Amino acid sequence: MTGQVLVLNSGSSSIKYRLIDLASRRWTARGLVERIGENGGLLVHGDVRVERRFPSHEEGLRAVLAAFAEHGPSLDGVTAVGHRVVHGGSRFVEPTLIDEEVERAIEELAPLAPLHNPANLEGIRVARRAFPGLPHVAVFDTAFHATIPPYAHTYAVPREWTDELGVRRYGFHGTSAAYVSRRAAELLGRPYDEVNSIVLHLGNGASATAVRGGRSVDTSMGITPLPGLVMGTRSGDVDPALPAYLNRVAGMSVQDVDAALNRDSGLLGMCGANDMREVWRLVDAGDPHARLAMDVYGYRVRAYVGAYVAALGRVDAIVFTAGVGENDSRTRSLALTGLSRLGIEVDAGRNAAPSREARVVSPDGAEVAVLVVPTDEELEIADQTAARVAALAR
Ligand code: ADP
Repeated sequence: MTGQVLVLNSGSSSIKYRLIDLASRRWTARGLVERIGENGGLLVHGDVRVERRFPSHEEGLRAVLAAFAEHGPSLDGVTAVGHRVVHGGSRFVEPTLIDEEVERAIEELAPLAPLHNPANLEGIRVARRAFPGLPHVAVFDTAFHATIPPYAHTYAVPREWTDELGVRRYGFHGTSAAYVSRRAAELLGRPYDEVNSIVLHLGNGASATAVRGGRSVDTSMGITPLPGLVMGTRSGDVDPALPAYLNRVAGMSVQDVDAALNRDSGLLGMCGANDMREVWRLVDAGDPHARLAMDVYGYRVRAYVGAYVAALGRVDAIVFTAGVGENDSRTRSLALTGLSRLGIEVDAGRNAAPSREARVVSPDGAEVAVLVVPTDEELEIADQTAARVAALAR
C-alpha cells in the first residue's frame, strides 16, 4: 500500500503524532503537544517550537494542523489516521475502523483504563472532526495478547468477577511486542510463525511477553499495567493482600495504596530515582539502596524469563526493547545473568557495542539468540491501520 498514515497517540495532557510514509516505511514528520489544559503548553513540530497555552485537545490538534500547513510536509497524501488506544478489553482484538458505536465502546472500557482510554477517545473525536473524510482506525495495546489461552489469562477468583466484571489478564505493550517479535524473526531469517520468543519491553513501564509462533501466550501485566516486572515508579508484582495489610496497620485507603504502587514504587520507591541512568550513577557512587534496587530488578526479569522458558518449551530468541532494553547493556547483562544452563548467554563485547540497529548480542552458535530490537509502535500502528483499510476496500 502507498500513501501516508497519520498516527496519533493522545494522552491525558498530550498529543504525540507521526506521519508515516508506507512505501519507504519511514516517518516524514513527527511532533507533540504537551501540557494541554495546563500552563506552559508546548508544541514541537520537527524543529519548530511553539510555547503557549493549549486549552483543549481540540486546540492542540488544530495547532498541529496549522504547523503542518505552515512548515510542511503536506498532509494531502494522508490516506488514513491510526489511533493508539490502550485498553480494548475482551472485545477489541484487532485494529478496528472507528465509528460512533466503537467510540461508545471505547468509552465503556474506561473503568479498565481510567487514565488512558478517555484521553485516547478525546483524541479520536477531535481527529475525526478534523479529518471527516478519512478512515480512522483504533489499534489497541491489549489486542496482541488476545491469543493468550484461558489457563494463562484467568485469575483464580470467584467466577462472577471473571464473567460479569471483566476480571482477567489483558496485558499491555502489545503493539510493541508484535513489532519487535516479528523483527526478531526477520533478523533470524526464519518464518514468524515458527519462532518462539520472549520479549522484554524495558522502559519506564516494563513487561515480559511470551510469543509462540507469532502469537502472545502470556504476558506479565494484567487487568492493569501494574503487575509483573519492576518499573520506574510501579512496583510490579506484590502480594495482592498488600492493600488490606497497609489498611490494617497504617490506615491507608485502597486508593492511597494504589496510587503509591503506581507512582511512588518501583526503582523510585526503592532508591529515589526512576531514570535508569541515574540509578546506575547511584550504584557506582556506592549507594546500597540503588544496588539492591537493581538486584531486585534483575532478579525479577530472570524469574519471568525462567517462567516463560517453561511456558514456551523451546525458546529461539530473547528480545530486549524500549528505553532501557535498547540502550542499557549493563541492565541487559544483569537481567540474563546465570541463565547459561538454559542456553541463554550474552556476549560481553557485542552487548556493550553501542548501536541503534536491531542486532544479535549473544555469542555465535548460542542455543537462544539474544537480540536488541528498537521498538517502533508508530510504524506498527501505521501498518496495522493500512492493512485494516486495505482489507475493507477488498
Ligand atoms: P516509556 O515507557 O516512557 O515509553 P522509554 O521506553 O522511553 O519509556 O524508556 C525510558 C527509560 O529508558 C528511562 O528509565 C531511561 O532512563 C531509560 N534510558 C534511556 N536511555 C538510556 C541509556 N542510554 N541508558 C540507560 N537507560 C536509558
